Amino acid sequence: MAKPPAPAQPYRVLARKYRPSDFTGLIGQEALVRTLSNAFATGRIAHAFMLTGVRGVGKTTTARIIARALNCIGPDGKRKEPTIHPCGVCEPCVSISESRNVDVQEMDAASRTGIDDIREIIEGVRYAPVAARYKVYIIDEVHMLSKQAFNGLLKTLEEPPPHVKFVFATTEIRKVPVTVLSRCQRFDLRRIDSAELAAYLATLAEKEKVKIEEGALALIARAAEGSARDSLSLLDQAIAHVGGSGGEGEMITAETVRQMLGLADRGRVLDIFEKLMGGGISEGLTDLQSLYDAGADPLAVMQDLLETTHFLTRVKVAPAAQGFFDGGSGEAKRAAELAAKLSVAVLTRAWQILLKGLFEVRDATRPISACEMVLIRLAYAAELPPTDRLVKDLLDGGAVPAPRGGGGPASSASPRAPVASGATLQARAPLPQGAPTASLRTLEDIVALCEPRSELRVNLEHNVHLVHLEPGRIEIRPTPRAPRTLANDLQTKLTSVTGERWTVSIASQGGAPTLVEQKQAAKTARHEAAAQEPMVRAVLDRFPGAEIVAVRDTVSEDIAVSMPDKDEE
Ligand SMILES: [Zn+2]
Repeated sequence: MAKPPAPAQPYRVLARKYRPSDFTGLIGQEALVRTLSNAFATGRIAHAFMLTGVRGVGKTTTARIIARALNCIGPDGKRKEPTIHPCGVCEPCVSISESRNVDVQEMDAASRTGIDDIREIIEGVRYAPVAARYKVYIIDEVHMLSKQAFNGLLKTLEEPPPHVKFVFATTEIRKVPVTVLSRCQRFDLRRIDSAELAAYLATLAEKEKVKIEEGALALIARAAEGSARDSLSLLDQAIAHVGGSGGEGEMITAETVRQMLGLADRGRVLDIFEKLMGGGISEGLTDLQSLYDAGADPLAVMQDLLETTHFLTRVKVAPAAQGFFDGGSGEAKRAAELAAKLSVAVLTRAWQILLKGLFEVRDATRPISACEMVLIRLAYAAELPPTDRLVKDLLDGGAVPAPRGGGGPASSASPRAPVASGATLQARAPLPQGAPTASLRTLEDIVALCEPRSELRVNLEHNVHLVHLEPGRIEIRPTPRAPRTLANDLQTKLTSVTGERWTVSIASQGGAPTLVEQKQAAKTARHEAAAQEPMVRAVLDRFPGAEIVAVRDTVSEDIAVSMPDKDEE
């Protein structure tokens, strides 16, 4: 020991040390501060406030600041009015921040939900404050109150004595009865965005003489999910991790924080995603296991995979996208390369699987097992052809029966009919040379014999009405656009493929619609069938002007409905 330690100062956790004592210390809540300032300045202070927002966003802190603002008497004890700038040193200010002011009562509705608890308050409301200007009741998680308790409270809220103020806080504003809400001034405390939070943490780190990388601050801010309090506790943890503050600690790196938070290395998450998308299930699972062994939290891995999917999708639509992977980093480049290989349809499906998986992992008794199951599902899904391909295969395969004038329910063209059946897909495969004549039963069978995009194939699809077909004999009615050589070409093809004699005759009338017409009709029928689905019916009825733009047969989503623009007639 070269130097004696600095005079011992009890270490106070950052969240306490930097708990805002007045409104100026509240970060990210400018709107609230402005509205309250105006109200105080004009002397029109509400009887009841409702603070809402996610956990850790500063509701209780704000409630206490409001209580102080109402009751501050100033350093000299002479202030007669509430102030938006409570002094923080007078007796009311100090006792309120220490939760020991007799006139400021805090109650957690989560543990005291009954009418008896509220009755206590209602009784107390009648008496003037003991010492303070106002009696202030702070009720946290107010949505937890029973119906009876709310009703009891309502009477007081309707005619509150002038010396009483209520400050309610809730994470679930929708569970608060409207009758109560309508008697409160409501403030929505917003989630602090991570850039703002990181900047705030940077100023604190400087004050605390803590050396910390920018990347580490960003990770902490992201993990805190908009909660200033959580971000401060995490920063505390990080400081403890490297051995204290005050300059003697070592630099807090992004890597330190990542380990501390159980976050996986992003490059390795990208590895996993790439392997799974390539169908490499066992490699992906091995990687997951090694991340897990290194301390990564399965839930965090799921979140990172989701972020990865989001990033890749954004890169596809906007190549300069920034975000999860730092621009210019090797990972960002690799991600961009991977994005180029994957379709938006595949990425969208990955997103859905992962999002569902996130909740499964969160609720699982063994998160790592749930995580593995999700990854396996993801890898299998990656091997399926995208939805649009499946529909195209269906239509190309011609497995859809020609509808009769759109009448009837067209049950086989129902939007939920399984499509990716082997039979349908196999029908596309060209018949082997020397196929027996008897296997040619439909025009589609013959089309399947032709080279893709060959002239004969295109003509058979577009320009032929089939009148009759039996082994060795086919009767067709060509459209006016068909080339004159068509019958001859068809005969040559059939004879060469089957090795048997074929007669092709031309009819002047009759015959089935062309294959292209059939596809079109089938598509119309599918739309009509889709429109009959109760769910779709309901959507179409509810949104006048909505129309079915596509009917897709997929595993998860069936029907796309386009909504009219607001100003469209
Ligand atoms: Zn004061």
